[in-house]
Amino acid sequence: MGGEGLLWLMSSVESGKVEGRAEGLESRQVADVQRRLREMTFLHETSKVLAATLDLDGVLRSLMAQVRDYFQVDATSVALVDEEVGDLVFRVAVGEASDDMIGLHMPLDQGIVGWVARSGEPLLVPETHVDERFYPGVDDKTGFHTRAILAVPIKTNDRTIGVIEVLNPAVGGFDEDAQRVLLSVADLAAVAINNAELYNRARQAERRYESLFDEGSDPVLVLDLDGKILDINRRAIEVFGRSHDQVLGMPLSDLLGIPNEACQEPLQQARAGKRPVSEVKLESGAEGFILETHMAKIDYGGREAIQWLGHDISERVALEQIREDLTHMVVHDLRNPLGSIMGSLQLIHTAFIEHDQTLPITKLLSVAMRSGQKLYLLIDSLLDLGRLEARDTELSKVPVDVDALVQEAVEQIQPFALGKDQDLSTQIAPDLPQIFADRDLILRVLTNLLDNAVKFTERKGRIALSAEQAAGEVMFTVADTGIGIPPEYRQRIFDRFTRLENANGVKGTGLGLAFCKLAVEAHGGRIWVESEVDRGSQFKFALPVGEG
Ligand code: ADP
Repeated sequence: MGGEGLLWLMSSVESGKVEGRAEGLESRQVADVQRRLREMTFLHETSKVLAATLDLDGVLRSLMAQVRDYFQVDATSVALVDEEVGDLVFRVAVGEASDDMIGLHMPLDQGIVGWVARSGEPLLVPETHVDERFYPGVDDKTGFHTRAILAVPIKTNDRTIGVIEVLNPAVGGFDEDAQRVLLSVADLAAVAINNAELYNRARQAERRYESLFDEGSDPVLVLDLDGKILDINRRAIEVFGRSHDQVLGMPLSDLLGIPNEACQEPLQQARAGKRPVSEVKLESGAEGFILETHMAKIDYGGREAIQWLGHDISERVALEQIREDLTHMVVHDLRNPLGSIMGSLQLIHTAFIEHDQTLPITKLLSVAMRSGQKLYLLIDSLLDLGRLEARDTELSKVPVDVDALVQEAVEQIQPFALGKDQDLSTQIAPDLPQIFADRDLILRVLTNLLDNAVKFTERKGRIALSAEQAAGEVMFTVADTGIGIPPEYRQRIFDRFTRLENANGVKGTGLGLAFCKLAVEAHGGRIWVESEVDRGSQFKFALPVGEG
């Protein structure tokens, strides 16, 4: 029956029309019709509560208030099963002592509500004091006196999720009809609980999406099927430097600053359900960056849309470039000395076969040996760099005599210095203590620094290696009269692959100093450079004396 029909019937009953027309009917039957009408009106009114709000407590409270009025009882309440804890919690209570009831926990095996929750059956208890299922504990707590109870289960899909109880009717007792009506209310409550759960789940999913969308570290846009912007996440606002309002409705190509045609192909693919990936370079600020963009068709609140995501790959691209450069440099660096070795051996070979006495065999041999030495240096630096960076090198520390170490380093580099007519001298303070170090690594630090000094110093320049003692440390200095290093580079040259512009003429990998830093620091030491452009540089490193 529709609401209007009900209202008409209700007002007719109230004004006595139904009774009037029902002349001749037994008064019991009239009373029955009246009661049924009241019931229907009541259920109709209660069902309206569901549409009024999505707030579950609000719905249940309104329902219980109406139930209390309808049944004329002292109190009504709803207890819901807490699946996790495995008990019942009074969620809503209306009437006497209701404040004390809310939040009260009740084990499933206790009291009338527990029994109804477990059995899934309604229960009518006209006199609580004679029913042993009644648990007086709650009354003790609230000070309320329960005389009679009607309790019905709230069920969804045959599962009991809660219990409604009404206590102490003002007149008479509860009957079968009351139980039937209350069961209908329980059905409404079940719908309300289900709705609330569905709504919560939908809200949670929405929030999850919102936080994924908004908190993501990549810029994300939602586009309509023509590529116009519908939504933009926080990261994209930062990256593009535009506000939400500024970009709404803007074509993607305008935001990216690229020709419209460039976006058409991926948009077309995304519309066709593919997931196109492409790269775009953004000119933003001084640096600019490169985004790998992904597009995919999505359901955007029931509407077809395209999600655009840009992943910043600038670093990866830069690293790839570095790797390419490095490969190029390493190949070059390996090839040159190898070429010298092969050339020298070739000549020596010819000299032997053709008994050619004119060729300077010793000189050729030393060229080959020097080049071999260079290869060693490079390969070892590459290997050590990897190992030191991964920190899986066990230093083999031994007591090292500084004087002997310095002499060995100088012997290795002297030929290169001589090749450039440079003066390579040493100055070792007397009575230097021994250092406790990985001899091989520190020797390579010295040869790297000396090698650089030779490389970055003009012909006939001067190079000096000194060692002195200072406050528990031995300090080594490799000084040259070379091209020097501008202040802004003095830190960075110790990073991998850093090479100065002015080093253009000189070949190198930019790995030598990175190795030196790692090796010195692995010994608990420090390394730095002092320099004056065009006058020369002093590379210094200090190692602790003692076993460390
Ligand atoms: P590489 O020598 O292979 O380039 P390094 O890491 O040893 O790599 O050096 C990095 C950069 O530091 C060099 O390319 C050069 O620009 C600068 N540098 C190193 N040593 C000196 C030096 N003694 N004088 C001037 N510049 C230097």
